Amino acid sequence: MGDDKDTELADTLAEVGRRVGQAMTDAVERMRPAFGALAGVASRPEVRAVIDRVEKALRRRPCLCFCSRSHPADRGVCEMFDAVITGQYSSDLLGDVDVPMCAPCAAARAAREFAG
Ligand SMILES: [Zn+2]
Ligand SMILES: [Zn+2]
Repeated sequence: MGDDKDTELADTLAEVGRRVGQAMTDAVERMRPAFGALAGVASRPEVRAVIDRVEKALRRRPCLCFCSRSHPADRGVCEMFDAVITGQYSSDLLGDVDVPMCAPCAAARAAREFAG
């Protein structure tokens, strides 16, 4: 009697183990095409376009506006990595220096200057 139960248990465990193993094998098999696609995807033109855009974005000039000092009321407007113009930053230490600046920052500074 007891022996039968142990055998049954062992069979059950073996079955569970087999199923888990099969499930894992299935999962790996299901993921394999995704990995393949990922490796192949970088050479596709529409993906190249996205990568190019990211690379261009990374080459962009950062906005070096000192937002919290120059336009504290509009600190949130800064497009930090999209400096399109050169602005002037008046520093006690360096005098007037040219710094790359994004358009919203330049506008915020001008508005603040205009308002006095
Ligand atoms: Zn700013
Ligand atoms: Zn900015």
